[in-house]
Amino acid sequence: MGYKKYTVKPSRSFLDNDITYLPGVGPKRAELLAKELNITTFRDLLYFFPYKYIDKTKFYSISELSPELPYIQIKGTIRSYFFEGQGTRKRLNAVFTDETGSIRLVWFKGTKWISGNYPTGQEYTIFGKPSLFNGILNIVHPEVEATSKQTEKFGSTLQGQYSSTEKLKNHFITSKVILKMISNLLQHPEFNVQETLPNYLISKYNLLSLREALKAIHFPLNNSELERAVYRLKFEELFYIQLNLIKFKQNRSIKYKGLNFGTVGDNFNYFYYNNLPFPLTDAQKRVLKEIRRDLGSGKQMNRLLQGDVGSGKTVVALMSMLIAMDNGYQACLMAPTEILANQHYNTITKMLSGMAVKVKLLTGSSKRSLRKEIEESLSDSTLNILIGTHALLEDNIVFNNLGLVIIDEQHRFGVEQRAKLWRKNLSPPHVLVMTATPIPRTLAMTLYGDLDVSVLDEMPPGRKPIKTIHYFDSKMNLVFGFLREQIEMGRQIYVVYPLIKESEKMDYKDLEDGYDTFVRHFPHPKYCISIVHGQMPSSLKDESMRLFESGQAQILISTTVIEVGVDIPNASVIVIESAERFGLSQLHQLRGRVGRGADQSYCILVTSVKLSKEARERIDIMVETTDGFRIAETDLRMRGPGDIEGTMQSGIPFDLKISDLGRDGQIIEYVRNIAEEIINDDPLLDKEKNLTLSINLKRLFAKRRSLRNIS
Ligand code: ADP
Ligand code: MG
Repeated sequence: MGYKKYTVKPSRSFLDNDITYLPGVGPKRAELLAKELNITTFRDLLYFFPYKYIDKTKFYSISELSPELPYIQIKGTIRSYFFEGQGTRKRLNAVFTDETGSIRLVWFKGTKWISGNYPTGQEYTIFGKPSLFNGILNIVHPEVEATSKQTEKFGSTLQGQYSSTEKLKNHFITSKVILKMISNLLQHPEFNVQETLPNYLISKYNLLSLREALKAIHFPLNNSELERAVYRLKFEELFYIQLNLIKFKQNRSIKYKGLNFGTVGDNFNYFYYNNLPFPLTDAQKRVLKEIRRDLGSGKQMNRLLQGDVGSGKTVVALMSMLIAMDNGYQACLMAPTEILANQHYNTITKMLSGMAVKVKLLTGSSKRSLRKEIEESLSDSTLNILIGTHALLEDNIVFNNLGLVIIDEQHRFGVEQRAKLWRKNLSPPHVLVMTATPIPRTLAMTLYGDLDVSVLDEMPPGRKPIKTIHYFDSKMNLVFGFLREQIEMGRQIYVVYPLIKESEKMDYKDLEDGYDTFVRHFPHPKYCISIVHGQMPSSLKDESMRLFESGQAQILISTTVIEVGVDIPNASVIVIESAERFGLSQLHQLRGRVGRGADQSYCILVTSVKLSKEARERIDIMVETTDGFRIAETDLRMRGPGDIEGTMQSGIPFDLKISDLGRDGQIIEYVRNIAEEIINDDPLLDKEKNLTLSINLKRLFAKRRSLRNIS
């Protein structure tokens, strides 16, 4: 094929060229590739990696085939063609044979082209998945290649398979065609890739060069070369993410002098000796020590506190705020919902009773007069602690000397919002981010890679593990009976319905129907049922919550608004309706609403009888364990981190091409250490040998940079 007329634009780097400059890609194909696969440049195509490989040296004989086999290769002859069926079921059949037997090949589309291009009586190599139809073994829409024409590209024995879409296939852009395009690209006379890792790293860690790796990922000579290619590409992708995080973290601590909270004074000590309602767990003591060390280090604290629901994060937050106060600073605590902010406010004011600490609550529904009072007492520093929701971020909330910012349930707040709180003081306040979503350690290295991590890995004593029971919805009568017994014993019950945005209307109908059913089984005046959901005005919400909190209502029916943080120790049963519709981490969060008092607590998962395999697995693991980290690991394995809330905020402004933050934990840890070594040796990456690193960091993270600097 002549390349002359496709001569690429010299001004740009080779890989930046538009895909239309590639032989075999006209405007129509380019449009499809852009639309379906997001491929618009040479680089995009080169970085479109196979999702699996077929061993081209392995052939089956027809007598060995069975419908259980995956995609396979056979060699043989097309004997004859015939049509079968009517209308949309009309299909072209080919009788295909080898020495051992015969099988049908079937096409529903492109039939004319097939019979025209693959004449009978010739030998072909067939690739596809055997299946059984009407008792006859067949392969639907196989790939067909004349055996004589089969070319072994670059001596590769493994053939990459590329995911293609229905639309692409309809335009004959199959996996094989994509492979051909990539082969054209690699053979382009001007083909050239710029190495993205410095030589000293490539040789020290025995990596393939980028050029070698990119060729081998598409046309591996053998399995071991493929492994090395995959490793090199993962190494690079994950290394730059870690390098960015660590450089950011380092430079932040060089750039900003933190407020120095040198003393632990009267408020902290008074609280500790007089007000603390329980002895701290060892984990709480350890975490407080870590926080105190940060606060007194002269550097700004940026710490993530991970602790499963019920592990006692609130009191850690409160005691940290008292340290800020002891050093003459104000503190604030931001929660993601009004209910939670309210709850924090109540808990904290109760715990501080008898102490001269001024605490206020600010939410979207705070009255004007209260706002005014808050604004004034903030600016003259008579207000010590401000608790609230997003309302804290508003511009007219100005602190006199904000020293500590605590953010509860971090995954609900974006990086931008964290940044806004930062700017509320001239020198950046200390930041403590609290989350109840257990995150596997190596995933946290990426999602929170710029934060130091503390873990509350111990529950307060005296908790009985929650019993989790699964019921099909056909057995609701048993559930009602059980709930009645629990109410007799003086317990309270949460009932939760799923709320999934796309079908909000239907969900509210479920919730309302559910409410009616419960009212029928638990009639007034013997029973009182509260209902809370996101579309209620907040005054009504508060009223419902108050009824339940005060114990007047025995049952609280809600959507997931109660998901985070609510603490009502007497509520010892949670019923989760349509539990199959919740994700694992959400189920775990919801279950954490109970098990807070001394009573035996129960979580009842109600599902329909028809369960997908994945739903079944989720329910089973919930019944089996209450260990949040085990559940998080399972969740990660089942869903992949792409779905996990918070990944969007991880500060990775590009799609991962090859790595998996969940499964590549070992490599993440490895490259993080390497990145640390490099930054320790050269914090600004301005040594000559690290030029490649700083160029590529800029290229990869430029988009996000302006934001990250202030967050
Ligand atoms: P989290 O916010 O981590 O989910 P909370 O701070 O709401 O947990 O604490 C859960 C419950 O445990 C609260 O009722 C709290 O008073 C109680 N608690 C916290 N720490 C201890 C402790 N050391 N001993 C006994 N109870 C504790
Ligand atoms: Mg909490």
